[in-house]
Amino acid sequence: MTGTDHLITGATVLTMDPVTGAAPVTRSIRIRGGEITAVEPTLTAEPGEDVIDGRDRLVVPGYVNAHTHSWEALFRARLDNLPLEHWMLLSYPVLGLAPLSPDLIRLRSALVAIESLRNGVTTLVDDVLEIPGQTEEQLAAVFETYRDIGIRANISGHVMDRPFVAHFPFLADALDPAERRALDALTVCDTGDYLAYAQAAAARYRDYADGRLRFMVGPSAPQRCSPELMVGLDELARRHDLEFHIHVLETRTQAVTGEEFYGKTMVEYLHSLGVLGEHVTIAHGIWLTDSDIEVLADTGASVSHNPISNLKLGSGIAPWRKLRDAGVNLGLGTDGMSSSDTARMSEVVKAAALLHKVTGPDYRRWPTAAEVLTAGTLGGARSARLGATVGSIEVGKRADLVIYDMTALAFTPRNAPELHLVYSENGSSIDTVMVDGRVVMTADRLTTIDERAVLDELQARGPELRRWQDHLETLNRSLLPAFDRQYRQVMSRAVPVDRFSGHGDCWLN
Ligand SMILES: [Zn+2]
Repeated sequence: MTGTDHLITGATVLTMDPVTGAAPVTRSIRIRGGEITAVEPTLTAEPGEDVIDGRDRLVVPGYVNAHTHSWEALFRARLDNLPLEHWMLLSYPVLGLAPLSPDLIRLRSALVAIESLRNGVTTLVDDVLEIPGQTEEQLAAVFETYRDIGIRANISGHVMDRPFVAHFPFLADALDPAERRALDALTVCDTGDYLAYAQAAAARYRDYADGRLRFMVGPSAPQRCSPELMVGLDELARRHDLEFHIHVLETRTQAVTGEEFYGKTMVEYLHSLGVLGEHVTIAHGIWLTDSDIEVLADTGASVSHNPISNLKLGSGIAPWRKLRDAGVNLGLGTDGMSSSDTARMSEVVKAAALLHKVTGPDYRRWPTAAEVLTAGTLGGARSARLGATVGSIEVGKRADLVIYDMTALAFTPRNAPELHLVYSENGSSIDTVMVDGRVVMTADRLTTIDERAVLDELQARGPELRRWQDHLETLNRSLLPAFDRQYRQVMSRAVPVDRFSGHGDCWLN
């Protein structure tokens, strides 16, 4: 027996498998070498086996956070009431930013992993955006931190290779000459260099940490990347079976940008490049047309739905039910800790269950607990190219499990476990978290990292970090009036709202 051999006896289980889904069943679960080898109504303990008594316990697959950016962990709780384009300028400052040191990246990644595991998140899709461009050393700092802490992750080198001013339809006209010169002086990533970098990273991190951590390609968004970059990364992703992760139609500005740049929607544009497929996850997918949804369904692309971030940045409401009806695979994501201020998927699951109840009066079409839990587990796993590996409790899958104590406050008095999980639980009832069969948290303690030391160091460095951020914010805020001018241009464009499936759906308006 090893540290990854366990028997959980007689627990209440939400298997999240395609048959049982979120219907609670009583099961015993055997785990050998990190793999689930038996799921039965009863199993008898074998000599020397690590037995976990499942009485009063709810066992669920760990959440898969299908979209986040660990960069933002240092920027949480700094900004409020800004639309995406304005917010991005201040949370990903373009003027005056020097590369972050690997030691700060380690602390930042540890913070994200700690908050995730404490909330029952066992897989992260971390679209790592470094400004002004990721180095091998910076990428290694993320891989090493997640390796040591024991979480599962897809980790990208987020990339954009078009000049900053060219990301937006009306920014060039909104800038004064000095602002334009400052932005034109920014370094632009070389497409060929980045493709070589991504190729090397895909090879270096193949089977890293027993395959628990994988490289992912993360072209930022269609309007921020050249077609050559997207096509090159698509080929790389297909060759190595990597997730291709891209932001698409998050805001009204982006919907207008598609029309202005390409005379078509961003989804139609991506489809014309031939890059959509089962390996693709589009983050957000709010300003989709009905035909965009058909294209996503036909190509097998997934959507990561990030309701808290979308609410905070006023981006709009993704067409949840239309995407579901079309058969598009949905995952759920927190997005970064600056746009949602959290890495806790329990909040996202609850927000997803609640938000769409105001989008139409037909209550039979509101999201169910089973649907949002599926998106938060198996749907996210599928979007991350991990559908055969995690996301449900089934024989042959890796044991990424969360064990909740149903005698805790959030489960008292005890009614439907799946409804407690969606609407009442906030991470505080977690008894044990297991990733790849390894117990990474138990009895309110992370077993793989000195959590206090990470928090203490970040607290101690707080004043230094805030001075650095204040300086950057002052510098970049000078561009906000130009962004306001652009924003007014966008809002004056006649966007045929009827074409868009989600926005404008709110029946309470
Ligand atoms: Zn994002």
